[in-house]
Amino acid sequence: MLQSGQYNKLNQKKQHTLREVVSLEGVALHSGVPVELTIKPAAIDNGIVFKRIDINTGHAVIPAKWNFVSDTRLCTTITNKQGISVSTIEHLMAALSGCGIDNVTIEVNGPEVPIMDGSSEPFVSIFQSCGVVEQNAARQILKIRKPIEIFGDLGECIILSPAEEFSIEFEIDFNSMAIKEKSLDISLVNGTFNHDISSARTFGFLEDVDKMRAAGLGLGGSLDNVVVVDGSNILNTGGLRFNDEFVRHKILDCVGDVYLAGGPIVGRIKAFKTGHYFNNKLLRQLFSEADAWEWITFPEEKNQPRYELASALV
Ligand SMILES: [Zn+2]
Repeated sequence: MLQSGQYNKLNQKKQHTLREVVSLEGVALHSGVPVELTIKPAAIDNGIVFKRIDINTGHAVIPAKWNFVSDTRLCTTITNKQGISVSTIEHLMAALSGCGIDNVTIEVNGPEVPIMDGSSEPFVSIFQSCGVVEQNAARQILKIRKPIEIFGDLGECIILSPAEEFSIEFEIDFNSMAIKEKSLDISLVNGTFNHDISSARTFGFLEDVDKMRAAGLGLGGSLDNVVVVDGSNILNTGGLRFNDEFVRHKILDCVGDVYLAGGPIVGRIKAFKTGHYFNNKLLRQLFSEADAWEWITFPEEKNQPRYELASALV
């Protein structure tokens, strides 16, 4: 079984899938209904694909790719050309990235991935228990060749630059006494995602939680799956898992969102106050500039893109 610290050596060169089928159950954060998730091993070059098994029209497959992202307001949602969606995919995508998994089919019996404990840890844990197996094909890795910069109207900023490994430097800026440690710079190699980032939970402010509930959203949210901040207090029994759990979760979201590139990135992300919207905008800008990126294998060789860049849905 792969342990933290061994992933990088094992998974850089070859594609990987799960050893066997895994299943889990949980609640959907927004609708509050129970959801079943079944994650199945898949063949070389399958990529990560979601399948809505509650849809019987034959159009239930949604590739986990940046150009299928249709909504980034509360979570990341992907939608196929027939209008079939699955949302809240980012924590599961982050776990797949952290475990070096390239090929799986994810069956879900509703429109939302279960929130579990609000982090990626339950997914990482089940993948590690099941085991991850090497496949006999080279892993296509997205090498960044030129910096891409995205700026928002409120001072937000995300920059993706060439580098020799995947790293993220993130800074948050919430006006809250409860959020003291605001920045973290982490190299996401050798199992650091699973060890240092995967258990950081999603968070919200009590006043926003009340507004979401009033709007019929967040109905599955509870102190079991969201860190809730009320002024200078953390309402969850036991407090935080890390002093800087908030910024760690923002890094987790970013890891999950940028795995929608279609493979692992070799490059450095520097982000300030950004979220799902900017993570997707970064990939859209990246792929619009043909000289900014290249699919490579190790040892570095030039390759054709692994996936056809299908026309963007939105
Ligand atoms: Zn999140």
